[in-house]
Amino acid sequence: MRRIAVIGSGATALAVLDVLVDRTDLNVSLIRPDRRLSSHGAKPAAGEPADELIAAAIGALRRELGLKFPPPKSHFGVMPERIDVKGWGKIWRSNLHGGLTQFWGGSMVPFTDRELAAWPITRADLEADYQAIAERVGITGADDALRGYLQDRFADLPPVKAIAPIELLIGRLSHVKSNGFDIIGGVPRVAVETRGERDNACAYLGECMMGCRQGAVFNALGAIELHRAKGGMAEECCGFAEHIDIDKKTVTIRREDGSYDHVQYDLVFICASCVHSVELTMNSLETEPETPISDNLILSFPVLYGGRIAAESRSERFFALTNGKLMLLPHAAGATPIFIQLYPNPDYFWQYNFPRWSWSMLHGLARTGRNRLFFARAYLASGHSQRYRMTKGTDGVELTLDQEPDTTRFFDHIWPQLRQNFSAAGFWVPPVPPLKAKTSSHYSGGFPMGGRWVGKDGALGNGAFLCDSANFPDCPALSHTFTAMANARRIARLALLG
Ligand SMILES: Cc1cc2nc3c(=O)[nH]c(=O)nc-3n(C[C@H](O)[C@H](O)[C@H](O)COP(=O)(O)OP(=O)(O)OC[C@H]3O[C@@H](n4cnc5c(N)ncnc54)[C@H](O)[C@@H]3O)c2cc1C
Ligand code: SF4
Repeated sequence: MRRIAVIGSGATALAVLDVLVDRTDLNVSLIRPDRRLSSHGAKPAAGEPADELIAAAIGALRRELGLKFPPPKSHFGVMPERIDVKGWGKIWRSNLHGGLTQFWGGSMVPFTDRELAAWPITRADLEADYQAIAERVGITGADDALRGYLQDRFADLPPVKAIAPIELLIGRLSHVKSNGFDIIGGVPRVAVETRGERDNACAYLGECMMGCRQGAVFNALGAIELHRAKGGMAEECCGFAEHIDIDKKTVTIRREDGSYDHVQYDLVFICASCVHSVELTMNSLETEPETPISDNLILSFPVLYGGRIAAESRSERFFALTNGKLMLLPHAAGATPIFIQLYPNPDYFWQYNFPRWSWSMLHGLARTGRNRLFFARAYLASGHSQRYRMTKGTDGVELTLDQEPDTTRFFDHIWPQLRQNFSAAGFWVPPVPPLKAKTSSHYSGGFPMGGRWVGKDGALGNGAFLCDSANFPDCPALSHTFTAMANARRIARLALLG
């Protein structure tokens, strides 16, 4: 019986486990952190008054961060661990069982051959695995203009309902031919349960930025726990993998109490998330990463709407994650697409920054405001975005800024035209430069597939495979977790055949 070790317990580990757990010829060990979300991060009881719940979550965050606009996305007041990038700021990583999908926004879009231009694999290599991951996770979608570009027939859950002004804007911008670029748009592609008959179907509570009480947003932890409950893993080793001896096929694990454990394997799949996996691979190969870690620059701007909205469309209830998606496709050869997501103005933004006693007074204002103001976030590909270099420091690894984001070569030329495209038929984008976010939480690269260390099949050699986005050759603008999961599944499938 072959011994298999899977390192990590988040989105990509789940994709790998899906391939392994039903095989009776494999002995699977999951190496994962012991830590879970603390008790105030647990899903609250149904029926608990929303304001009390939100106040408790916001209180926990405010004690940690103080006032902040926009406040961070959280899981009922808990944020993921952060690591400092010298010369830049903090970025996210996960030290929890279950990983970052406990906090994420659920956006899931496949890459096309245009996004994969610098990769040693094509969309055809990923197609079957995109399909399998979509079936496992459940992704919303529709037969709209965006489908013409993404070719994502597997995004087949009923679409989430957008707030009225975003629906109007998407309708207007879904097929635009412009000077220098085209725009296409469509409904959100999100890993959110929308089938009304399901217990956890989205109830449009609008609390998504703070945590979903319904459990409508997909979370890898529940699925991994289910594999465990069904006996899919022979063993779970709680601790952090510190080193892989690739010659001796041994993983060294540091437990929470400081003791060490060793796991022998025939095949090992590294799924510890980009930042952790680059560190582990660097320690194991005793080399510097081959490339910096890429992020996506996000440029946010407000959109105002002064037009008419039918009374029946002014709903109290709304979905607070991405309500619409646009792709901006430059005409210039080799120019990378920009991905734009549209977000409503959630109550959470002002509740976070105003005292609890003022909430009921501000609620009516916020409700009206939601039909008049929303936000766009434009994601740029890694060539124009910030990048981080990982090196060994005196006390573990250190991250330093390797490349500043650069909007001058590309976005600054597009911006006036883009504003014009948005600003018509009652919509208006103020003439102020978009706000740059510190991080998109989409990290990739370090040891790219087809590079010096990692094959196009994810192989590091002698039974070791790098499965998560640490193996991406670059970081296209589109949300990347869907591709990280599909590629991890592909790597595991091929490894078992080998
Ligand atoms: C606020 C936020 C919003 C986001 N929104 C989106 C979105 O809308 N769309 C999108 O595509 N992506 C989004 N992301 C990113 C997405 O969550 C990650 O890309 C995804 O979870 C990565 O999967 P992964 O398996 O690589 O890592 P994770 O899901 O983080 O899992 C890694 C696991 O490995 C464990 N681990 C780490 N090191 C070790 C070690 N040495 N030994 C053992 N275990 C280890 C971790 O604790 C964790 O359990 C978001 C992230 C954040 C923080
Ligand atoms: S609107 Fe957001 S918080 Fe409410 S049920 Fe849907 S996903 Fe969950």
